[in-house]
Amino acid sequence: MKQKTKFIFVIGGVLSGVGKGVTAASIGRIFKNNGFDVSAIKIDPYINVDAGTMNPVEHGEVFVTEDGDETDQDLGNYERFLDTDLLSTNYMTTGRVYLSVIEKERSMGYKGRCVQVVPHIPMEIIHRIKTAAEKTKAEIMVIEIGGTVGEYENILFLDAARMMKLDNPDDVAFVLVSYLPVPSHLGEMKTKPTQHAARTLNNSGIQPDFIIARGKHELDKPRREKLAFFCWLQSKEDVISAPDVDSIYEIPAVLEKQNFGKLLAKRLKMKLNRQNKSGEWNKFITQMKNPKKTIKVAVVGKYFATGDYTLSDSYISVIQAVKHAAWSVGAEAEMTWLDSEDYEKDKNAVKNLSQYDALIVPGGFGTRGIEGIISAIKYARENSLPYLGLCYGMQLATIEFARHVLGIKDAHTVEVNPKTKNPIIHINPMQAQNVSKNRYGGTMRLGAYDCVLKANTKTAQAYGEKKISERHRHRYEFNNDYKKAIDDAGLKVVGVNEEKDLVEIVELSNHPFFVGTQFHPELKSRPTSPHPLFVGLMKAALD
Ligand code: GLN
Repeated sequence: MKQKTKFIFVIGGVLSGVGKGVTAASIGRIFKNNGFDVSAIKIDPYINVDAGTMNPVEHGEVFVTEDGDETDQDLGNYERFLDTDLLSTNYMTTGRVYLSVIEKERSMGYKGRCVQVVPHIPMEIIHRIKTAAEKTKAEIMVIEIGGTVGEYENILFLDAARMMKLDNPDDVAFVLVSYLPVPSHLGEMKTKPTQHAARTLNNSGIQPDFIIARGKHELDKPRREKLAFFCWLQSKEDVISAPDVDSIYEIPAVLEKQNFGKLLAKRLKMKLNRQNKSGEWNKFITQMKNPKKTIKVAVVGKYFATGDYTLSDSYISVIQAVKHAAWSVGAEAEMTWLDSEDYEKDKNAVKNLSQYDALIVPGGFGTRGIEGIISAIKYARENSLPYLGLCYGMQLATIEFARHVLGIKDAHTVEVNPKTKNPIIHINPMQAQNVSKNRYGGTMRLGAYDCVLKANTKTAQAYGEKKISERHRHRYEFNNDYKKAIDDAGLKVVGVNEEKDLVEIVELSNHPFFVGTQFHPELKSRPTSPHPLFVGLMKAALD
């Protein structure tokens, strides 16, 4: 029998970036491994209506859902850990919440009453959480509240959580994910910032049920007792130690070892052990921990000089997709980020690609570093280096081919050169209007579209299917006027969207593996089911 929805709120303390998203995803995985239907919601406190208008270098990757919502990268973590598709209802921002309240007010939806920040904003938040639970039919709904306690931005979300607990105390649990620093001059873990975070949470009317103590090291017994005592937890077992680990995918096991699932279930007045469904996950973990080879993957693009932290955040799905695929072929991926502008400064620099087993050009926007990327793609094409181009990486591969194989010297995308006489990548009239009228938010080609594959191609072989569906996020498209020419010359059009007559996948004949996709396959890669095209790339790299 199905369990009525239980809500687990994950809230951050002390500082951001300590792994709230992965903790939320891991909690979900624990319940999934025990046979429950799990879903997750991310709450972003920003005024932005979606993440689509945010700079990825500042905010991290924009993760696109099946139904075309541009969301936070944490939704990617949830999908990967839970192996489930999430929808627009699984994401909300302050902007989105206010927008619906204001729209409702404008249409007399509040029937003449005075509309106030409290209670109407928290009520709209609760309405959204409950709608998501109904839509996903989740038995367990994990809700991550963005930001950290004590800041102004997320107060109304905390208030909504508090109200939900008040209404149904047995159906709501609070988990505080906090950080325990080790100041270098002391060399010991300090609990005081976490104590303050718990107190601050108390000010919002919320008592945490559990504290996840993130830190470099394992939490010791005295500190565990201290935290439980000073943060008013029911027992010291309610403090869960979460030290740094090699891979995020090990976190469910770290939490499980301390019985976190059972403790949570007990607090929610339910039983955890319904059915053991952990086989698939455990098999993946074993595979991940035993790679026999290393595959060296070069990723070429712009923005790469901004430092490792933002970089791995901006391309998190690409990184994960490469890792999943490498593990699935018994290897480990070693990724190197190469700045395409270096290839513009020195024409011979592309030769450094010879030391890699595969090349990826990920998605991107704008003009910076474009010629350097094109040089890298040329190198891959001419030197049989396995290549996967994702979105912009596909568009630029067609430009490279048009220029150097078809001899169309000024072939370009109108995104970079709006006046080119040979717009291999162009823009449709509707999109041109969006751009000219500054209608940027949520107007790209977004979300899942079908694609029919051509038989007897490497792509069809990799997928093992005739018809697929993949997620998009781009404004420009391949120009069908050049379709026959590139196909005849060897860059085969092997995937199309028939409804809109759009080119989705190109593949080079006479090359071990050279594939470009207009969509973003990385968004659908899961540790337990890696994406076929990334697996194809890894297999070619091993060969
Ligand atoms: N800039 C290109 C476009 O808008 C590609 C986008 C992307 O790579 N996501 O079409």
